[in-house]
Amino acid sequence: MNLDLLAIAAHPDDVELTCGGTLLKMAQRGYKTGILDLTAGEMGTRGTPETRAKEAAKAAKLLRVKWRGTLGVPDSDVQPTRQHKLRLAALIRELRPKTVILPYWEARHPDHYHASTLGYEGCFLAGLKQLPIEGEPYRPFKILYSISYANVRPTFVVDITAQYALLHKAILSAASQFRPRKGESSTTYKKHQVFLAIDRLESEMNQLARHYGQMIGVDYGEPFLQKELMKVDDVVKMEVRSI
Ligand SMILES: [Zn+2]
Repeated sequence: MNLDLLAIAAHPDDVELTCGGTLLKMAQRGYKTGILDLTAGEMGTRGTPETRAKEAAKAAKLLRVKWRGTLGVPDSDVQPTRQHKLRLAALIRELRPKTVILPYWEARHPDHYHASTLGYEGCFLAGLKQLPIEGEPYRPFKILYSISYANVRPTFVVDITAQYALLHKAILSAASQFRPRKGESSTTYKKHQVFLAIDRLESEMNQLARHYGQMIGVDYGEPFLQKELMKVDDVVKMEVRSI
């Protein structure tokens, strides 16, 4: 399929919340983008897997994603096992993404840090000729880590100011697990202690995007880390003001 950019994450709304603006921005530039959810998010407190799948498809459409799929790993049990790695490697050979975005390798939720390892190792294995899977050996050129919720300094920040309104819409459309069920009062809702209620999700998302935007002198941004150094050709045209 030759995707330009593929974002891999553990649960159906993780990509939207960590790098959705960047995916949209790249799609607007004409790049072919994709989202791979490792699980179907079936352990989410709210919303059935069916509603989550519908929401994921709606969000993908808003973010102009060309391909979205699920690897079928059980939610709350993401592990870099041989079986999962081989399945991911086969999919990488099929989609042939040039750049892959993975979650940061340290996180509160085990699925998130395991998704990082599984993603990296799947991409690596995809390039091994002798691997017992279908497809031409292929390895992505670049791995980026999305670090919106990690307490580390980004290598760079993508300006998503022009994409923010649409991203906001995409995230809210995929938010059944943050909303009270029909006929449920807000008091009952509070008793359920869902990790993030919808208003909190919204303000946190806004705060984070503003925080990272400020780091590069724009309104909204999404932070990334890469293990390699950035190569610069022209130090006179470098962006982001120092003083
Ligand atoms: Zn998640």
